[in-house]
Amino acid sequence: SISNSLFAFENHESNVRSYSRSFPVVFTKAAGAILEDENGCAFIDFLSGASALNYGHNDPHILSAAVEYLHSNGVIHGLDMATPAKREFMELFDDLILRPCGLSYKFQFVGPTGANAVEAALKLARKVTGRHSVVSFTNGYHGVSLGALAVTGNRYFRNAAGLPPSGAVFMPYDGYWGPDQDTTEYLDKVLADGSSGVDLPAAVILETVQGEGGINPASRNWLQSLERLCRKNEILLIIDDIQAGCGRTGDFFSFEFADISPDIVLLSKSLSGCGLPLSLLLLKPEFDVWQPGEHSGTFRGNNLALVTATAALRKYWTNEKLSKGVVETGCILRERLQEVAQSNRNSNITVRGRGMMVGLDCSTGKLAGEIVRKAFEDGLVVERCGAEDQVIKLLPPLTIERQILQRGLDILEKSVHSSV
Ligand code: PMP
Repeated sequence: SISNSLFAFENHESNVRSYSRSFPVVFTKAAGAILEDENGCAFIDFLSGASALNYGHNDPHILSAAVEYLHSNGVIHGLDMATPAKREFMELFDDLILRPCGLSYKFQFVGPTGANAVEAALKLARKVTGRHSVVSFTNGYHGVSLGALAVTGNRYFRNAAGLPPSGAVFMPYDGYWGPDQDTTEYLDKVLADGSSGVDLPAAVILETVQGEGGINPASRNWLQSLERLCRKNEILLIIDDIQAGCGRTGDFFSFEFADISPDIVLLSKSLSGCGLPLSLLLLKPEFDVWQPGEHSGTFRGNNLALVTATAALRKYWTNEKLSKGVVETGCILRERLQEVAQSNRNSNITVRGRGMMVGLDCSTGKLAGEIVRKAFEDGLVVERCGAEDQVIKLLPPLTIERQILQRGLDILEKSVHSSV
């Protein structure tokens, strides 16, 4: 029968097994922080496309910029052609984001996905330094293509490549050995020790708040000493801001609070402002070493996505309102979750995060899974992360209304109470 055939899309997303976490409904509409299924049931979205929808679903201002551009016969796909969409994006990004931070970067558009930016960065760092290995961190996540997987810690993801992908040296991330241990000292030691077996790497790649790895924020001091170590050894510092960037932690870049200046910054997910795929590598001008054509690709810097990215910058980054809101809402989120954790003290639940990137560590994947399932039944979409899938990841749109946020937290609280 048809329902037994290969073409029965039981999970609605695809008919292969790798789409493992399917929600048991078909989503048809979305606006702001609300998703709606085909029966008209509403769900509060605390997942936001894993931070690809920082400004919520279908922001009317961003959408109308896209519609206007489509009706104007603007160039959508133009390979390396210069377009007003590209120029406007770069000029505005420079004015609104880079200059106020005292940063100066060139723009390499690198294809649609975050992993494309990671691959490009690893390639560029090797070309610049003539060195091969890259230092990456425990619990780091950088994507599923071979190069990105090589610097991704989680064994489950790495095993998907059949043979373990190579090229990375994994070091302990901030907090890996407890709160008072500066793990950069260890890195410093092994790099200085000729008998450690760790060759001088081309680059260090990291997230300042690890997303898929369990919402692990690095401290300002740790990031600063890592930067010093990179400078001392002429190692490129690559910040993967694909999930934590674009305002998620309060500032546009997640590393601003640490006063560091990475050599390469990677952005994707929320960059286009509305979920269109767009990926960008920002590089210090002295590392612009690729010859014409050395790093190319068909789908780089899609003009429609650049139009929406520009609209998002204009709407949300021309004043400090969004940043302030993220810091305030982030505090509300964490405080409320602390209360939830405390009122279930014997279940060993803890809270961590920065800005509106917050994790509820439930100690076990089983408990976290149960809470997520119950929350969905009551109308809240959340996901899990961490090595054991034990952390509930909270990434509501940065623009979420207070009332909807509180309603989502009420649902989560109820799910926790009934699961522990
Ligand atoms: N880096 C980080 C920090 C990410 O969170 C992700 C996606 N979750 C990626 C890279 C890979 O991005 P993509 O899935 O778009 O390839």
